[in-house]
Amino acid sequence: MTSAETRSLTSLVNSVDTLEGAGFRVRRPFPTTRLDHLGPFLLLDEMGPSDNGPGEAKGAPDHPHRGFETVTYMIEGEIEHKDSVGNKGLIRPGDVQWMTAGAGIVHSEMPSSKILAEGGRIHGFQLWVNLPASAKMRRPRYQDLTFDDFPVVDLDSGRAVVISGSAFGAAGPADTHIPITYVHLSLQAGGATSFPLERTVVAFMYAFRGRGTVGVPEVPIAAGDAAIFDLGSGAVTVRAGEPGLDLMIGTGPVLDDPVVRYGPFVMNTRAEIAQAIHDFQSGQMGSIEPERL
Ligand code: FE
Repeated sequence: MTSAETRSLTSLVNSVDTLEGAGFRVRRPFPTTRLDHLGPFLLLDEMGPSDNGPGEAKGAPDHPHRGFETVTYMIEGEIEHKDSVGNKGLIRPGDVQWMTAGAGIVHSEMPSSKILAEGGRIHGFQLWVNLPASAKMRRPRYQDLTFDDFPVVDLDSGRAVVISGSAFGAAGPADTHIPITYVHLSLQAGGATSFPLERTVVAFMYAFRGRGTVGVPEVPIAAGDAAIFDLGSGAVTVRAGEPGLDLMIGTGPVLDDPVVRYGPFVMNTRAEIAQAIHDFQSGQMGSIEPERL
């Protein structure tokens, strides 16, 4: 790839601090008033990092989803997950839960009982990936992936964890409906690498630790900023500043279907949203069984 084939940034967006669930802090580069969605990516939340005392940690109690996938990746701390189909499990540091909500599921995402009781740090990501119209009403599905499922590529100046798609010669294990690449790139101070983007994809690069630059000409990026790339071709140069730089990188194709969203439901028409609300309220997405003692 020649230097003429570098891909320039479309924009740099700052994340917005907001509260989610029962009141935990997230940094959200999208959706915001500036950027509703980016190709198949409907939402990106950085959860924390938050340091919680005993009894302080908050989560997202029972709520529904329909029409897309939620992808949870933990950096630190543990989330306990339960749902209306009877699944239950812990998402630990380095683990990914790739949940295809499809036609509908009710779930809860809470700090683990250990973190609730003893306190501790919670830091992770949730990415919402849209489904094509034809797959929005498919059966719900889980892919519970643990840290040792993911290839970790050693780079000259850092490393990359490949969650889905392919990057740096490695393929991520997550099975996706449309070709999504999702990577955690970690560069040491002064390190640099080149990330190729195919002509058919849009991309985000969200910085969450340290600072550096992306693209040519170099655009400064710091924790909380997302570099956004529209369709085009060429590679993106990423360079880490003094403290190093950690990024979550997502790439995927643009879906032609209209995006109509209402809270936890993302469909193609207003009528489908009304149906989703009706189906949830009438119990057709199920509910979470209380624990039996
Ligand atoms: Fe959820």
